[in-house]
Amino acid sequence: MSKTLYNEAYLDEYVELVIRHGVNIQKGQELLISCPADCAYFARKAMAVAFEAGASNVHLRWSDDICARTKFLKADDKVFDTFPAWDKLMMESLSEGGAAFLSVVAQDPEVFKGVAPDRLSRFNKASSVALKPYFEKIITGGVRWSIAAVPSEAWAKKVFPNAGSAEDSMKSLWESIFNAVRVSGDGKAVDKWGAHKDALRRRVKLLNDYHFESIHLKNSAGTDLVMKLPKTHLWTGGGDVAKDGFEFLPNIPTEEIFSAPQFDGVDGTVVGTMPNVFRGNLIDEYSITFKDGKVVSYDAKVGKEHLEGMINDIKNMDYLGEIALVEHDSPISNMGILFYNTLYDENASCHLALGSAYPDCIKGGGAMSEEERKAAGINVCDSHHDFMFGSADMSIVGTTASGEKVTVFENGNFAI
Ligand code: ZN
Ligand code: ZN
Repeated sequence: MSKTLYNEAYLDEYVELVIRHGVNIQKGQELLISCPADCAYFARKAMAVAFEAGASNVHLRWSDDICARTKFLKADDKVFDTFPAWDKLMMESLSEGGAAFLSVVAQDPEVFKGVAPDRLSRFNKASSVALKPYFEKIITGGVRWSIAAVPSEAWAKKVFPNAGSAEDSMKSLWESIFNAVRVSGDGKAVDKWGAHKDALRRRVKLLNDYHFESIHLKNSAGTDLVMKLPKTHLWTGGGDVAKDGFEFLPNIPTEEIFSAPQFDGVDGTVVGTMPNVFRGNLIDEYSITFKDGKVVSYDAKVGKEHLEGMINDIKNMDYLGEIALVEHDSPISNMGILFYNTLYDENASCHLALGSAYPDCIKGGGAMSEEERKAAGINVCDSHHDFMFGSADMSIVGTTASGEKVTVFENGNFAI
């Protein structure tokens, strides 16, 4: 590359943020970095910082969009019903051994366009079955993990199609990422993150004090959804604390405050307001209708077969597991960029997730069995996928145990 695609000092600060606060690596701990081969320069820096922070060993799990696509197009059909035993063993032995997990994402949003949906669907099923023990550790805080994005040419071109050269779009995406993760501008990112986490936690406390029995979400795009919340639900946001007592940031950036719906207490329709990327394909202009928590109908103008896969591939993906509140007037939303990447787009919009609830969204949930979680009212599933429905006119009204109605969101922003 002839031009400098990123500000080197910003990149160093971003890597420090990801390693020391994202996965919050501790002395003597192992780290697995899952990284696209094109982003090797990022993994090299991350490994160096991890060792400086005291990591005992750092492992790499490389990937490549083009190889993954070639495999989906050309491999023997029966391959997609299996998950490699060595890969399952690696994820299990590292997670059981207390390693931290960093995922670097850079995916072309439409990398698997044209691949037979059946192959994607079967592999989605096979990997969720194989990785269940690892996934359980992820959602219960049994390991510290973090997801951070690094531009790739294909992704940057999708976000900035009119930027000129591939290098110009990469540069624009880097600038947007540094901005969103609070690395650019005045001051140290770590200090800014401290203030940001405090601000999120203040609102978390307010919502937990109200302890709504239900919330009603409505906007002019067509969303009209009434959602009961479990008796012992908790709102959370601004990072997480793992079972070992250390804080971590599962997502960098994070702007959301979230909880879990009563899995069988959701009625009405939600209309998506941003394209959604699922298994390397786009789903757009879609709606989903729920009755007693279960998906009863759905439609999409783009990628309906992938929405169908999202809902039907894995057991209990036809119930909701997350409700997350993000103001329309918030830093990433105000950038006005459609990132075609859930890590970024979900932090610009109120969103829901189909599939598993995070057990920490109910009191004591992290120590509960799957049966106990279900009995406490949250969905249990071997997968989780977010989709965005926020808008500038989103209204959310909460109802308390005494029947009091409280406006939580008005015109897309918090009213409390
Ligand atoms: Zn979320
Ligand atoms: Zn989610």
